[in-house]
Amino acid sequence: MKLIDGKEVSEVLKKKLKDEVAIIIDADQRAPHLAAVIVGDDPASHTYVSSKEKNAKALGFTSSVYRLPGDVTQQELMNTIEFLNKDDQVDGYIVQLPLPEHMDEQLVTSAIRPEKDVDGFHPVNLGRMMLGQPAYLPATPNGIMELLKHYQIDTEGKHCVVLGRSNIVGTPMSVLLSRKARPGNATVTLCHSRTKNLEQMAASADILIAAIGKKEFVKGHMVKEGAVVIDVGIHREPSEKTKSGFRLKGDVDFQSVSKKAAMITPVPGGVGPMTIVSLLINTLKARKKEVFPG
Ligand code: NAP
Repeated sequence: MKLIDGKEVSEVLKKKLKDEVAIIIDADQRAPHLAAVIVGDDPASHTYVSSKEKNAKALGFTSSVYRLPGDVTQQELMNTIEFLNKDDQVDGYIVQLPLPEHMDEQLVTSAIRPEKDVDGFHPVNLGRMMLGQPAYLPATPNGIMELLKHYQIDTEGKHCVVLGRSNIVGTPMSVLLSRKARPGNATVTLCHSRTKNLEQMAASADILIAAIGKKEFVKGHMVKEGAVVIDVGIHREPSEKTKSGFRLKGDVDFQSVSKKAAMITPVPGGVGPMTIVSLLINTLKARKKEVFPG
């Protein structure tokens, strides 16, 4: 079994990004600017946003964070979005999900200007992705595509099974894998909570992507011998052994699955670091107006 080291791959990509940003700054131009909006006090969301901010700054990006209280109204959040849409100094921004229950996520993601939607969740970007047109690709699925590319994992004609059909991970993942491209050209099965024979489906996968949001859901018996397994899940559990007081687990039971898989992403250090780097790749594209020229 070989580990797919997302941390290592993300460092390679980060070095490239840092060099590109340095060229922009050396030419006396404005550094790419990523902004983030976070609503409420969900600790995991705050950890993600801090990590995005830290990584952005380390690579020379400008980073700003708008922290709004959990009881902010939808209109107040929309006002912040409107402000960021108009701010010429901000190239791209994200609204960290999930939002509090009283908010309409679809309304919020659709209000972000597509040109600044570096998370790639706006219908325009998702539609362009579907059609294979230039688009900001959703960070997590695109990070996984980068991992497949880096490790030269052949997807052509392979059976890829994606567990989970969320708009931000599972569904775009299935689209990217089935596109006429490399990586791509896979035969994709998308499973969800109404899938009847999910275990059999998973066990028939050459490449299995778990994005189901259930801790250690995928067990060894659900994986074909020699499969490639990508674990998207992130679950915090209390731990006395770590300084932070918690440790991370995935959607895959690493213990049993790693005995069957040929290659597997660990949690942490697999998909997570790639998500952040994908977001920064999109932000640099926004600064250079590569996706929406003019
Ligand atoms: P989500 O929105 O909760 O979607 C979960 C999907 O899994 C849904 O499509 C759901 O089906 C399906 N599902 C849930 N329980 C199931 C079951 N028992 N059997 C079959 N299908 C089931 O989750 P998400 O946002 O895609 O995130 C998935 C996981 O990835 C989470 O652990 C999240 O924390 C993690 N994540 C990690 C990163 C990263 O950077 N590593 C980024 C984003 C998310 P229905 O549609 O039928 O309800």
